[in-house]
Order: sequence, then C-alpha cells, then structure tokens
Amino acid sequence: MKSPRKGLWAAPVLLLLPFYTLASPAYEDRPRARPSTGHTCLGCVVVVSVIEQLARVHNATVQASMERLCSYLPEKLSLRTTCYLAVYTFGPDVIRLLSADMNADVVCHALEFCQRDPGQTVCHLYPLPKEGWKFTLKKARQIVKKSPSPKYRSSSDICSLPLLAKICQKIKFTVTNSVPFRDVDSDKHSAFPTLRGYHWRGRDCNDSDGMTYPGRRPDNWDVHQDSNCNGIWGVDPKDGIPYEKKFCEGSEPRGVILLGDSAGAHFHIPPKWITASQMSLKSFSDLPRALTDELNWPQLSGATGFLNSTSGIKENSIYLHLWKRNRCNHRDYQNLSKNGASSQNLERLIGSLSRNPLLDHPAIVIYAMIGNDVCNGKTDTVRAMTTPEQFYSKVMETLKYLNSHLPNGSHVILYGLPDGTFLWDNLHNRYHPLGQLNKDVTYERFYSFLSCLQISPCHGWMSANQTLRTLTSQRAEQLSNTLKKIATTQKFTNFDLFYVDFDFQEIVKKWQERGGQPWQLIEPVDGFHPNEVASLLLADSLWDKLQLQWPQVLGKENPFNPQIEQVFGDQGGH
Ligand code: CA
Repeated sequence: MKSPRKGLWAAPVLLLLPFYTLASPAYEDRPRARPSTGHTCLGCVVVVSVIEQLARVHNATVQASMERLCSYLPEKLSLRTTCYLAVYTFGPDVIRLLSADMNADVVCHALEFCQRDPGQTVCHLYPLPKEGWKFTLKKARQIVKKSPSPKYRSSSDICSLPLLAKICQKIKFTVTNSVPFRDVDSDKHSAFPTLRGYHWRGRDCNDSDGMTYPGRRPDNWDVHQDSNCNGIWGVDPKDGIPYEKKFCEGSEPRGVILLGDSAGAHFHIPPKWITASQMSLKSFSDLPRALTDELNWPQLSGATGFLNSTSGIKENSIYLHLWKRNRCNHRDYQNLSKNGASSQNLERLIGSLSRNPLLDHPAIVIYAMIGNDVCNGKTDTVRAMTTPEQFYSKVMETLKYLNSHLPNGSHVILYGLPDGTFLWDNLHNRYHPLGQLNKDVTYERFYSFLSCLQISPCHGWMSANQTLRTLTSQRAEQLSNTLKKIATTQKFTNFDLFYVDFDFQEIVKKWQERGGQPWQLIEPVDGFHPNEVASLLLADSLWDKLQLQWPQVLGKENPFNPQIEQVFGDQGGH
C-alpha cells in the first residue's frame, strides 16, 4: 500500500518550515516557495524535539505528547486536523524511535526527512550518539523497517500530495500573492489586516474608491468625505471652515515609507511556539495570522508599527512619532519590506510603492537593506556577497526610481549595515530555546546545524570562524561607506538625501544602562534578527538623530493636535 505518510507528517513540520524559507536571502530567487531538503530537515528536527520535550515536561507518553501538540493548534488553515492525521499515520514510528532513546536528529534521518549527501558530514543539532552515528542510524532504520505502519514512497515534493495540497496552497498564496508582486494601484491599500493589508500600509477607509487612500492631499479639503483616510473631514459648523483646512493646512503632513528586509518587516517566531515548557492552548492562537503575514509583524515594527509595544517599553516607532507630532499624518505609513530583500532584488519590491508625485504629500523614505547583501546561506558565502560596485549601481537605480515617483519635498534616509559580530559574541555560548530544557543546544550548535544544512540566514556572521565573521563585517562596512558616499555626493530634485549609521553598539549601551543584557535584543528562535525591543530602540535613536541634525525631515509639531483629538477622537483607529 502506498501511503503518503511523509507528506502527512510534514503538516506540522510545514508550520515551522516557512520561517527559514521566507527569511532566507535566496528566497527571492524562488518565488514559488518550496521547502528545500534543508528546511524539511530543520522542520522535522524542531517538531520531534518539541514532542520529546513535551513528553518530558508533562511526564507523559510520546503518543500523548503528539496529541497534546495537535490539541494546541488552532483549526484555522486546517492546522489541527492535519496534525491529528499526521499523528495517526506517522506516530507509531516516532513512538518506537523515541522510546528506543533516539534523539530528534536520528529520528529525522531514519525517517528520511534529513538526508546526507555522499561525502557530506552529518548535519546534527544535538551531540552525536555515544554509540556512533552509523551504528545508531542503522539500529533506527531497523526499527522503522520492523514497524507495522504502512510503508510509503519517498517524495521530495510534499506539496504534491493531495492531503497537503490545501495547506500548501494557502501558504503559497500567502507568499506569492502578496502585494509586492501586484501593481494595481487600488490594491495597494487594503481594509484587511494581513496578506499585505493594513498591517503593512495605512488602512484604506473606502475600498470602493481608488482615489481615496492615506497620504494623498485632501480633495476639496475633505468637505464631504475623508479622501486621505486620516480621520479628519467635514466642516466646522461654528465658522463653516473645513476641518482639514483648519487643522492641517500648513502643517506639512508627510508619511513614512520603509524599503526594508525581514528586519524591517519585524520577522519574529515567538519562542512559545517551540518551547515545550511554555506551551499551552493559547500558544498558537496567533500562528494563522502570522503565517498570512509571512511570519512578520510590521504592525509592531520600529519603522511603521502602530500598535503599542508588546514588550512594554515606552519607545515609539517612527510612524507613531510622526503621528504624535502631527495628527494629520494619521495612517500615512507603508512598510515595503520583504524577507530576503537586498539592494540586488529591491526592484521587484519597489513597484508596489504607492505615492503619486502630483496628488500626494511628501514622504520620508527609509532605505534599510541591513543584512542580505552580506548574509547568505551559501558555503562560499564571501563570494555570494554584494560587492561595493554592484551595491553602488543598484542603490543609484533605486534612488532614480524614487526621484521619479516621490512628491517634491520628500526625504530619503540611507540606513547603514550593522556589524553583526554581536550575534556570535553575545549568543554563542547561550542556550537556544530548543536547548534550554536539557541544556544541550547552544547557539553555536544551532548556527552550525543551519550552516551544515545550507539554510543559515547568515553564514558569515553566524559562524564559529572568526576570520569569516571579520570578513563579513568588513564587507558590511564597505557597503555602508558606499551609502555614505552616495549621500554626500549625489543630488536629486524631488528629495534630499541623508545617511545614518546602524549603530547597534549604541542601543546595546542604552539597554545596559537600563539594566538589560545585550542578548535580550536578539530574536531567540532565529538567533539573528533584532527583536521588537531592539527595533524600537533603533527607531527611537534614528528619530533623535533626525531631530538633532535634520529637523526639517520630520516637519513641525502641529499646534492643532489637541483639537483634532477633541473633535475626531482616535481618528478611526488604525
Ligand atoms: Ca482627511
């Protein structure tokens, strides 16, 4: 009997797969995201680890732990049903293997989710078995062979299996149908939160009218309707003056537009999704929504976040700063970020910029390609990095595009690249969330596992090799210097141009002064991205620098803010 067992098992695996598929710099070259063998292996190891740890935490059987994990999953996107189906078809092998004291690496190799190419080293997250790898794997394979479960053909394309097609399709839809690949103007602003909706750019307050959108100059002072969605419209009955004219004329409204990568989109995998000791019925409630935002949380990002911080810090995003400064800027934000975006592939994203040079207010554009020009998962990572010449040429192309699409009086800020050596320095000997229960997986091990699978988001910095880390930092510095040179030598008619350093050390210092530790600023699960606190600290520091050096970028404080709040309340929210 041919049973699509591997496909079914891959269902829970699939939940975790997209995180590296989407975050991987190579992603842009593969818009029809199909998990690589490396991602499949990682997904399997993560899920089997979680099952094993759930059993330990609750002193329960493997069977009960698999069912527990499924019961935590929401039914949206058919996640829970598919999980139960996977347990039913695939559970027996996992039970037998884990009961024989095999670890997740061995389980996933025995079940062929992880494969070792001839001549390659074994990729493993946990320490190698004491009895030796070959011997243990042979034993594990015998256990699987003897298993009464139906056997099945191996399939590298899990999405071709009928039972999984639906879920795959939903994930593919999320990934490929997002607005950056559309160029229909009326689709750019949406009344729906995810799938590149208002989590990403200001909510469309009238979806049926293509001439109504955040950021435009008001039509006839918005006497009859709110043409720019800032929540200000109508006429003051006391004096007959339109509110938009009274409160906003001369206040020089402006929006913020981020051209960013996964860091700008705030890529985030909550640790509670993979930490057995913290898992509960509530843990995965935000998973379906996060999947439809490509595992990004732009609504909480440093550039365009509009929700209050979940970490409780008082710092604001650039957008919220602008909104507090001038309430006429309400909803005027666009987060044009994509996992894997770099100077070299930004042209595919920038077409989704929504700004009419004649009809709209000026914008502050932040160019923040902070990692993927030096970060890649390739074995020969230095060769795959963008050279300063390639960088110069593409940045200039982007600026020319902006010059022809931005209203006159706009501002463009080129944001430098960080020195990513802080990742290794602060994390390598700490435990990854998967290693905290048994004190076995450090970030050094985690990084090396990702590099071995060739799916590291940044082989150059997430490496034990100091020379390689230094080379990566040197290239990043060269690219930052290229941006600096462009900012000081180039002039454009529709915007002025500035360069600002990505100064991680500065925010680490600020954080330490508040009693924090540097590692608390990095995403725990991926060990790579700046987390929400770091993003907000960086945004705040950028805001301070702009205010000090180039206050004209930010515009004036609107003296009518209190009246706007009095008349329009929360201006329709976000
Ligand atoms: Ca208005």
